[in-house]
Amino acid sequence: NREFLLVSRPKGIPTDDNFKLQTNQVPKVNDGEVLVQTIYLSVDPYMRGRMNGVKTYTSPFELNQVLTGGVVGRIIESKHDKFKVGDIVEGRLNWADYSVTSGKGLRKVDPNLAPISTALGVVGMPGLTAYFGLLDIGKPKAGETVVVSGAAGAVGTVVGQIAKIHGCRVVGIAGSDEKNTYLEKELGFDATINYKTENVKASLKEKCPDGIDIYFDNVGGEISDAVMSLLNFQARIAVCGIISEYNNTEPSFGPRIQRYLLNRSALMKAYIVGDYYERFDEGYKQLGKWVKEGKLTYRENIVNGLENAPKAFTGLFRGENIGKQLVRVRNE
Ligand code: NDP
Repeated sequence: NREFLLVSRPKGIPTDDNFKLQTNQVPKVNDGEVLVQTIYLSVDPYMRGRMNGVKTYTSPFELNQVLTGGVVGRIIESKHDKFKVGDIVEGRLNWADYSVTSGKGLRKVDPNLAPISTALGVVGMPGLTAYFGLLDIGKPKAGETVVVSGAAGAVGTVVGQIAKIHGCRVVGIAGSDEKNTYLEKELGFDATINYKTENVKASLKEKCPDGIDIYFDNVGGEISDAVMSLLNFQARIAVCGIISEYNNTEPSFGPRIQRYLLNRSALMKAYIVGDYYERFDEGYKQLGKWVKEGKLTYRENIVNGLENAPKAFTGLFRGENIGKQLVRVRNE
């Protein structure tokens, strides 16, 4: 059983020496537990925060302990009455070939509904994040303009498509022309901005002629600063993530934005997907339905081999992924 430990706290973007791959016995299964064989491992930006050793909305990773994250796997041994051998499940498990778990927080995945990898993406945590943040905080109405940053990633691609389903004009901000072509040609975004080559504020002015009603913020920093002065009256801002700041050792400072919020009587609300735990079933159902109807499409960026998990993870901060970044640990 190969497993990844965090052995030192990263400064900036993590490097190989922050991680260690070690081999151990496959863990034993006690009563009330199951043994899960990892098929896909999810790498997610929030894990960077957990590597700092500081408590945020979730506890930090401990040094010299096995890292954990979203996993889709197969049950290969069960001493639990709710799970049987062969079940495909999703849960927060180890960055490892195998994990033993009590089944708490473990969700059965129906392989006949959608490819099982989607349980970590479009019909998983990122999909729920997009669904609840956009609908509950953004409250989109037909004809409104929605701007989404981090638009070509796991959450952003779903946000844009749900906004289109609700009849909005959608403008995505992402870091390459290839990503933006995908958003416009395949996902139906109305316009896009490459923040690496364009002046974001000037392009926003041009591409949002009626102003901005909803801003779905995945990145924070200067991109979000540029959005603020273009908000419409009663605009809504869902603060989902601030990936541009996750690797900073010092907090960054920007304009004082209260003026923009007050001038426009705007709402800015941060959230974590777990706030909506009681409504997860509703979210899974609706996302699954949209995928089945072809209203919600998705891409996955898959890196092969558990040994490449750190590389897949740090790739998130270099913008290497279009859609959901996964690690395939073994074939289905
Ligand atoms: P993505 O699939 O979007 O991957 C991360 C992307 O972020 C990269 O592909 C890159 O795309 C972009 N990025 C990286 N560095 C920067 C930077 N300095 N400035 C601007 N963009 C950058 O990840 P997710 O969809 O999983 O997550 C998106 C955001 O949502 C993250 O901030 C994450 O923390 C947050 N999140 C929040 C949750 C919550 O409960 N609140 C739950 C899940 C996610 P590009 O080429 O465009 O730069």
